[in-house]
Amino acid sequence: MLDCIEVDGLIKFYGSFKALDGLAFYIKCGEKVALLGPNGAGKTTTLRILAGLLRPNEGIVKIKGFDISKNPREAKSNIGFLPEDAVPFLNLTVRENLEYVGILRNINNLKERINHLLDVLELWEYERKTVSSLSRGNRQKVALAMAIIHEPAILLLDEPLNYLDIPTQERVINLLNSMNSTMLVSTHIMSIAERLTNKIILITKGKVIWQGGMTELKKLAGENERIEQVV
Ligand code: ATP
Repeated sequence: MLDCIEVDGLIKFYGSFKALDGLAFYIKCGEKVALLGPNGAGKTTTLRILAGLLRPNEGIVKIKGFDISKNPREAKSNIGFLPEDAVPFLNLTVRENLEYVGILRNINNLKERINHLLDVLELWEYERKTVSSLSRGNRQKVALAMAIIHEPAILLLDEPLNYLDIPTQERVINLLNSMNSTMLVSTHIMSIAERLTNKIILITKGKVIWQGGMTELKKLAGENERIEQVV
């Protein structure tokens, strides 16, 4: 199997603070992987670098073999990114937000694709409402729809279940599990990692400290659910 995501020697400074300290990992095409770590571990920084929104000070990122600093267009065309605390365009309606990204992504059957996403995410009643009038949970669903509208080969999800009530979390989990994309999901909740992925990369202080399966991690974690209680 090919590596879809290659990360090597990433270093990222915010001022004099080193947020990533030589981070390295490889994700094969088709794998569903959780980037698990306590608050401040560097998960969001890593995902933003992988999405091409932030430049590292050092290190290499390749997406499907394309170096994101040398071939950003080719690398980014393979990616769908749900940022943490994502806010769609507030003054556009739900449908307009989806049309906007759909046109940017050059989607052929855009109308059908939007209708399908409004269906599966139960967003029809908000279709003509501006995002500014929506609850935080509904905004999160719109942001997710925008991230997956082009059925990306690689999906980067930063805390994807934030703000969602339990039934909606189930709906989103089922939707994500039905997708074929290679997935990297940032979270600090082990049960979320378990429901969405089958491999864990554990990071703290900007470094990988452990990689493996959920069964092995559960043995390490005991009864603890939040990764802050484990590392
Ligand atoms: P969380 O779960 O809280 O989002 P995280 O694992 O995603 O944490 P990051 O958001 O990547 O971690 O942050 C890593 C470290 O870098 C933290 O200590 C954070 O305070 C710091 N940091 C992040 N962004 C900035 C910034 N723009 N300026 C200064 N420091 C930052």
